[in-house]
Amino acid sequence: MMNVKLTDRERKELEADSALAWMTYMGAVQNKGKAMEWRDRLWMTDILADNYPEQVIRKAAQIGMSTAEIFRVLHQSVHHITNTIYILPHYDAVKQFVSSKVDPIMEYNSIPTHGKNSIEEKIIGGGREKSFLFFKGSWTEREAIMIDADYLVFDEKDHCDQGVLEIYESRIKASEYGWMHKFSTPTAPNKRIDRDFQASDQHHWFVKCPSCGDRWYLDWPDSVDYDREIYVCQKCLNEITDNARRAGEWVNKWDKGNRPRGYWVSQLMAPWIPASDLITEEKKVGKQYFTNYCIGKGYAGSDVTISEGLISACLSSERPEKADMCLGVDVGGSAHHWVIGNDRGIYEIGVANYTETDGDKGYNRLAAKMTEYDVKTCVIDGNPRTNESREFAEAFPYRIFLSYFKPQDRQPAPFYYVEDEFNIIADRHRVLSAVIKEFANGKIQLFIEPTDEDYDTFTKQWSALYLKTETMPDGTEKQTWDNGGDPDHFALATAYMRCAVGRYKAWEEVNETSLTEDRQEPKVGALIFGEKEDGYDWYYGADEQER
Ligand SMILES: [Zn+2]
Repeated sequence: MMNVKLTDRERKELEADSALAWMTYMGAVQNKGKAMEWRDRLWMTDILADNYPEQVIRKAAQIGMSTAEIFRVLHQSVHHITNTIYILPHYDAVKQFVSSKVDPIMEYNSIPTHGKNSIEEKIIGGGREKSFLFFKGSWTEREAIMIDADYLVFDEKDHCDQGVLEIYESRIKASEYGWMHKFSTPTAPNKRIDRDFQASDQHHWFVKCPSCGDRWYLDWPDSVDYDREIYVCQKCLNEITDNARRAGEWVNKWDKGNRPRGYWVSQLMAPWIPASDLITEEKKVGKQYFTNYCIGKGYAGSDVTISEGLISACLSSERPEKADMCLGVDVGGSAHHWVIGNDRGIYEIGVANYTETDGDKGYNRLAAKMTEYDVKTCVIDGNPRTNESREFAEAFPYRIFLSYFKPQDRQPAPFYYVEDEFNIIADRHRVLSAVIKEFANGKIQLFIEPTDEDYDTFTKQWSALYLKTETMPDGTEKQTWDNGGDPDHFALATAYMRCAVGRYKAWEEVNETSLTEDRQEPKVGALIFGEKEDGYDWYYGADEQER
């Protein structure tokens, strides 16, 4: 490109049009003061030259994509009048990112500013024209979403507050420019960035085998020879050299159509990372981390996802007598999902759809289930419909409890009973973990027919959950069962049923007589749900005294 003879005007037009041309002509310098190096990054030049508005990049870590995106944002800000919002998971990530990457890049490349140049906001532009560049943390700044944007960047999308990202997306609807770049290391398959990538035109970096000439993309572990510690052609098993990796080309799996542009960027494409390094890394960091952060793919190990097989393995042909039945109810905007069972398993699942004009909003159907099954204890979602659920609870005193989610830090207390005749506080993550464990070891069985009209929805909603690991602002790691934005009502209804079973059993033990026969005041003291030798259960714990 440098050798092409262009007039000044042609060159200016080319620079305005292409971030790659702009970077090449100015001799772009990276954040650590080194000139941008292209020989190992041919794959990146195509992305930099791509002006398609909506792009999805499913990426490995340590590959330079954030640096590339900073240059794209600065290029647009210098050459066009744009409002850009660059969103990272947390404000701490923003501070770190802007001070260690954006600011040095702006300084080394003499990006003109109009005075304002803080961590959160920069005004950029050469002449009288001004572009605004905002950096935001997704978890902290709901109020800032009122800014209209022409260009949105979601960096580390999988680790952002997804609800906030949706609000941001609505902010570029009005812009005729409408650029949106989403990128992230993925988490689970078909969740978040991986789902975005699946819906895109899916560009893969194809390399040509020097031996047999076959063209294909490198994958892990199919393209690696562990003994020789080299990349190999999947067809002839001869070596794929670093030069072959450099000289690849992007090939899209799907025709563009209405799809966003998608790129999968992995460390396998990085000529500076030899296969031997990745073999060592794989042993060191564990499968999930390796797959997400080195290969840039979603990880579906049984430790982090719930397969439909896990649920269907619990189906039992037994039909045991219905005794000590408990009810769990998830309350939604237009439906209740319920699960009825006892400490042996689940006997009935169902959905009560209703509309806003239904007088009872589905509560009559729940009341009928209370009577039909002689339900001993019911736990119902405290939100939304708190008032209606409270009324429902008052119709069955000491038998119905509203549940609210709140993480519990104390050990051992996967979830915790608050001494109140109407409410329990549950730790969503811990109770779901407990139920999943009980599914896995066969402690909860499904005494329902696989032909049940709601069974497919039940398994589908359970398998929406996957274990997400997030790094918190203080550097600690937090795990949550995340639904990736898909419905998980039946999973929550099961969790509520499990709370109800434990609640009933503990109460029965303490009071000796069944609650439903006689209203009795709860005993004072903490009721703890914790892990015991034979699984999870409720018990009156010493926890309260020990505090
Ligand atoms: Zn070959």
